[in-house]
Amino acid sequence: MPNYDYLCQTCGHRFEVFQSMNDAKLEDCPQPGCEGKVKRLLGTGAGLIFKGAGFYQTDYRSSSYQQGAKQDSAASKPAESTSSTPAPAPAASPTPAKSGD
Ligand SMILES: [Zn+2]
Repeated sequence: MPNYDYLCQTCGHRFEVFQSMNDAKLEDCPQPGCEGKVKRLLGTGAGLIFKGAGFYQTDYRSSSYQQGAKQDSAASKPAESTSSTPAPAPAASPTPAKSGD
């Protein structure tokens, strides 16, 4: 059962109502003494914008992007480090010629 956000255009009272899509949407503000008309906010996606979740989405996207970039650089790095020059063979010390006595 979806819940809808309503916002009173007179007193600014905001509330959520659980109702099926077949139910008639509310029109009158439930606040006592207020006879203003309420406006149904569009879906939960629109409600998130009011709660400032846009920042969260941006954070989530940038962090996942950073992870992807990290994996990319990690995968390309080992290929470069394989250019190691072979160690030169140690100079062989001349074996002392054995002088026959
Ligand atoms: Zn109201």
